[in-house]
This record gives sequence, C-alpha cells and structure tokens, in this order.
Amino acid sequence: MKTQLQKMKQLPAIDVGQRKQLLKTLARTIKKHKKRVITAISNDFSHRSSHETLLAEIMVSLEEIHHNIKNLNAWVKPQIRHSNWKFYPSKCAIVPQALGVVGIMAPWNYPFNLVMAPLAAAISAGNRVMIKPSEMTPLTAQLIKDILAEVFDDEQVHVVLGDVTVASEFSQLPLDHILFTGSTPVGKIIMRNAAEHLTPVTLELGGKSPVLIDENYPLDKAAKSIVGGKWFNAGQTCIAPDYILVHENRKAALLKALTSSLQKAYPELSREKDYSHIINPAHHHRLTQLLADLDAQQLVAPFGTETRNQMMPPILVDNPAPETALMQQEIFGPILPIISVHSMDEALQFVKQRARPLTLYLFSNRQSTIQKIQSQTLSGSLAINETLVQFAQEGLPFGGVGASGMGSYHGIQGFRAMSHMKSVYYQSRLNVNFLARAPFKNWKEKIIKWL
Ligand code: NAD
Repeated sequence: MKTQLQKMKQLPAIDVGQRKQLLKTLARTIKKHKKRVITAISNDFSHRSSHETLLAEIMVSLEEIHHNIKNLNAWVKPQIRHSNWKFYPSKCAIVPQALGVVGIMAPWNYPFNLVMAPLAAAISAGNRVMIKPSEMTPLTAQLIKDILAEVFDDEQVHVVLGDVTVASEFSQLPLDHILFTGSTPVGKIIMRNAAEHLTPVTLELGGKSPVLIDENYPLDKAAKSIVGGKWFNAGQTCIAPDYILVHENRKAALLKALTSSLQKAYPELSREKDYSHIINPAHHHRLTQLLADLDAQQLVAPFGTETRNQMMPPILVDNPAPETALMQQEIFGPILPIISVHSMDEALQFVKQRARPLTLYLFSNRQSTIQKIQSQTLSGSLAINETLVQFAQEGLPFGGVGASGMGSYHGIQGFRAMSHMKSVYYQSRLNVNFLARAPFKNWKEKIIKWL
C-alpha cells in the first residue's frame, strides 16, 4: 500500500479534460454493470431489494457523477477576490488545486454509492484516489475493484481489499485527505491515525436521528413518510429515523397509523422481495440484544417478531426507557422506538440533551414550530415533512456535526473538500509596499501612524 501511495504521490494532478472523460466513462460503466451491482449487493446482504439498490446505489451515484461533469468547468475557475485598497491595483484570487492522493473508506450499508459519490468529488478535483471498501460486503468490494479497473489505470484509482487490519493500515497512510464513512467510534480511530501525518479528514458518521411530530400534523401522512424512510434497507441507513417523539395523546393513534402504513408497504412480508435483510448474523444478534431488556408488552410487531434467514420484521417499541441500550445506541435496523412527550418544548429538550444528530426530521405545518426547531437544534441536516430525500440533493452539503461527523460532500461541497483552495496574490507593477518596510524613518513613520 505504502509503495503504491508513494508512486501515486509523484504523479501530477489529473487535468480537467481528462477528469470529465473519466467521469463520463465511469457513468457509462456503472450503467453497463448495474445488474451485477444489484446481484453482488443482494448476495452480500443475503437479500437486498433490487429497487432499493437501483435507487440508493445506482441512481444517486449517477446523479452525483453527472452533476460533477456538468459543473466542473465552473468549479475549477479561479475566483477573483477583493484586494485591500492599500495594495491596488494588485489582484487576489482563489485557485482550486488537487490535494494529491485522497483515501476513501466506505461502510457496508450502501457499499457502492458510498464509494462512487466520494470518488466523483475526488476525481472532479483532480486527485488520485485510494479506496478501501467494506470487508462486510466482499462481493460488492470485488465488483467495485473490477468496475474501476475498466475506467481508471491503477495510478489514478487504486482499490485495496481486505479486513479491518488492512483498513487500519490504510488509515495510517500519509494520504492527502481521508473521506471516511462509518460509525462514530471508528471515526475517532481514523482521526487519531490521520493526526500522525496531519492528514485532513471528512468524517461521515452515524448516530441517532430523531423524528418530531407537531401536535396537529396528520399522523397518516407522517407515518407513510416515516415507514418509507425507516424500513428502506431494513433501517440500515445512516439517516434512518432512529426514534420518534410524539405527544402522549397521539401516541396510540401514531402506533396504529405506522402499523397500517407498514401493512400497506409490505402486504406479505415473508415473501416480500422489496424488504431487505440484515447484513449478517452478528448484526442480527446485536439488534435482538437491543430488544432484550424490554417488556414484551412494549413491542408492537405487525408481522410478529420472528426472524427468518436474516430477515428481521419491523418492530415498533412503545416508550422504551432512556437508559435502555435501544435508546443509548444507534439502532441501524428495523426497530423504531416511539417516545411520548407532553409538548414540543419537551421534545426539543430531549433532542438538545443528546449528541448532535446527523439528521433531524420534523413533521409540522406551522411556521412558528418550523422556525423554532430550525433555530434551536443543531444537526447535520433538517428535513421537514419528508424522510431520506435530503440525501439526494446535490445542491445541499451532506455531513454531520459533532458526534455525527465533520465536513461534508455532495456537489460543490465535495469538490471543495477534495481541493486545496489556494490563495494567490498577484502584485501589480505599481508597487508602493516599500512604504511599509524598514527603515521606518521620518515620513514613512508618519504614513504608518496615519494608516
Ligand atoms: P464501521 O465504522 O464499522 O466501518 C466503516 C469502515 O471502517 C469499513 O471500511 C471498515 O473496514 C473500517 N474499519 C473498521 N474498523 C476499523 C479500524 N479499527 N481501523 C480502521 N478502519 C476500520 O461502520 P459500518 O458498520 O461499516 O457502517 C455503519 C455505520 O456507518 C453506522 O454508524 C452508520 O450510521 C454510518 N454511516 C454513515 C453514513 C454517513 O454518510 N454519515 C453513511 C452510511 C453509514
């Protein structure tokens, strides 16, 4: 790995024309292999809905790549900046420049998109790239390596396969930037390793994303959106709703609305091709342990609680205590706690007392509530009256804050994260700077005092 990195570091940035060509070829190659992507991910998951893969892996990757191709010429242009009047007519500009070799480390939950979207940004900015896909999705990781080998030469993009030992070694390389997507605890390890070389990091982490429902927002409407967002990929989404805060008087009606929405979305769960499985037995075990310290009466399970072949049914949990593991850890699976509160202010306090979420969802039609939540909470993103789709907006930065991450990407934010925005000063021929240089005698001193 080290030798490969040293070799790549010696090479110049990829020029703008070539970046575009590479991104176009990448988009074509992804389209060509989309069926293989669907199969590989489904086999890695023991089953993943093909529609979910088409939407959340293929479509969003292609959208991101096309957005980069379309905007690249504008993004790479130097931006002229105001120069201080004392130095007129000298000029200032910001010139974007490739950082060098960028490292991309990806998780297993969207194993394809979470390589391709950061890759689009890195290539757009002219970098060479080293990639470490997740070891939990080995078939997808191999396919990513094969697809990228069709598009890039090994000195442009190099894919490293292997387990956590390899990932650890990867994160200790003297890379010029690391974009890491994964859990908060591993994010801390990555940042510590990167600190050794002062490698800058973008950390796309996880956490608990709450849902707040305002007192007169229609529950069936909220339930439909929450079901769509929570059980997409069986809840194994970083921005999946993690728990709901709802007024005590409306909790029973919400449980009913969620149950009804679930039954409509997955009429025959046991034969449902569009309900994805849990990634592996270890994660399934982790999820069942989250339910272990709850009373049976707290579980609302429209399809029962029995898991078959890593398919874990949707489970609603009525008012779990804040100290339970379910309310302390990121759930990252098909379990959804519903917590009752007595007011929006109580819900707000509940959120503010906890780590800053990656996303906060609010269902409300009242401007006053929207304004209050928007201004008084701090989260990576805020989505009002819908779930998940904020991820698919190239115009919006995607990233967390505090424990949910650091930095952002998607669209121009990704380009900037992977670039050095170099300050350049152009001295004009007319140069009176000698007035501010030694020896500071007589009239020079007077000018300095006046300035
Ligand atoms: P993870 O942190 O366990 O693993 C992510 C990557 O880190 C993998 O490539 C793995 O090989 C590597 N890794 C694991 N242990 C390591 C170590 N000790 N040293 C160096 N590298 C190591 O995360 P995961 O289980 O693959 O993914 C789930 C997590 O990712 C959830 O917390 C989820 O919220 C988060 N996530 C965040 C986003 C986002 O965009 N913010 C997107 C998807 C997933």
